[in-house]
Amino acid sequence: MSTDDGSTQGQTSYVIIGGGLTAARAVEGIRESDPDGVITVVAEENHLPYERPPLSKGIMLGKDEEDVVFPHDKAWYDEQHVELRLGTAATAIDPDAHTVTLASGETVPFTKLLIATGSSVRTLDVEGADLQDIFYLRTLDDCEAIKARLVAGSEIVIVGAGWIGLEIAAAAREHGCEVTVVEPQETPLYGVVGPEVGTWFADLHRSHGVEFRFGEGVDRFTGTEDRKVDGVVTSSGNTLSADTVVVGVGIRPNTQLAEAAGLTTDNGIVTDAALMTSAPDIFAAGDVANWRSTTLDTNLRVEHWANANDAGTAAGRSMAGQDVTFDPIPFFFSDQYDVGLEYSGYVPRGTKADVVLRGDPKTNEFMAFWLDGDRVLAGMHVNVWDTVPAIEQLVRDKTPVDRGKLTDSDVQLSDVGA
Ligand SMILES: Cc1cc2nc3c(=O)[nH]c(=O)nc-3n(C[C@H](O)[C@H](O)[C@H](O)COP(=O)(O)OP(=O)(O)OC[C@H]3O[C@@H](n4cnc5c(N)ncnc54)[C@H](O)[C@@H]3O)c2cc1C
Repeated sequence: MSTDDGSTQGQTSYVIIGGGLTAARAVEGIRESDPDGVITVVAEENHLPYERPPLSKGIMLGKDEEDVVFPHDKAWYDEQHVELRLGTAATAIDPDAHTVTLASGETVPFTKLLIATGSSVRTLDVEGADLQDIFYLRTLDDCEAIKARLVAGSEIVIVGAGWIGLEIAAAAREHGCEVTVVEPQETPLYGVVGPEVGTWFADLHRSHGVEFRFGEGVDRFTGTEDRKVDGVVTSSGNTLSADTVVVGVGIRPNTQLAEAAGLTTDNGIVTDAALMTSAPDIFAAGDVANWRSTTLDTNLRVEHWANANDAGTAAGRSMAGQDVTFDPIPFFFSDQYDVGLEYSGYVPRGTKADVVLRGDPKTNEFMAFWLDGDRVLAGMHVNVWDTVPAIEQLVRDKTPVDRGKLTDSDVQLSDVGA
């Protein structure tokens, strides 16, 4: 029997909206301290909750099977007594009544609710955008559709030289496709790593045969009589021949449910350090959340795997009554060709950070640091491993560093203090 607050015969009812990694980890976080609570996962996609990085890497390359993306199989959810409502969208939240409405019209009561709705791709609104064979990559189904187009000799135009665009470019080259990347900025990843490190990314991809069109956006797409894309006309008037176009121009957080429910949103759903939103009993985590970082003394929305992984668990714990302060240093990783990299830290948009290098980028083994005066805001290693804890410590402790030591690969990162 359900009561008004969604509890069932004294048990807490947890509802998780979302089918990504955040949702999967939240179940784990809840079960750490509440073995008996009723858990329902409402997920719009018709897949078990899954993580996305392999979609642009191992699976796209044909090296991994689809099942690498699932943190847990169906049997695990059954063992955890989780009710999975897959292929079902949540359409409304009533914070006062403590209910979630599903697309079917059914309402599900909750005691505690997690919004883990992630994000959706930004789309291009230009002439020809509705032609066939123009793709975006967010879901397993998108991944399979794009992979089927990566045939040796085919002409792939990628719009956007961000992480997704670059990883797809690498996969397409490994499949033997002709690849051109169109990017309005002067280097890849311009807003994230700046021009110096961005130039290294451009050189890496050029050395694998990728062609770039920097400083050019998309004016329109052209198509055949049967409405298949056959070209991209750039803002400079150049026409690039294309069998397939993949657009990777960023994402936006899926805040619609939260906004309609009257929760506070500002570039995501605003939460405190316990991942609680402005409504009692409603939490948010993963790509959709703009959470309070105690260490960095700011709110952050992070669109990366580690954030989904760690915030999902933390939100589950928080919902189940544990005392949680979610306070990681933001982290992400990428793999392109034979290069693996990890980045830790946070450089606020618009900050004029100095870039300091350690090691020679030409060897594809180096580190880069982004500094504000003598403070490390972020650090990245490329084909150099096990430096994340040391970088995180420099960021967390706001350690004043000596640039000479920081750039000297012979000095341990623990000894670079001024
Ligand atoms: C191709 C790709 C490669 C990536 N590679 C990397 C990488 O190398 N490194 C890295 O750090 N990060 C990477 N990321 C980013 C990382 O995958 C995301 O940060 C992560 O997926 C966020 O997880 P999430 O659970 O918050 O949201 P999502 O993974 O977006 O999951 C949200 C889920 O909620 C569902 N949903 C939305 N609205 C509703 C609703 N109303 N009702 C029910 N369900 C709903 C969606 O259908 C979706 O399944 C990559 C992302 C992509 C797309």
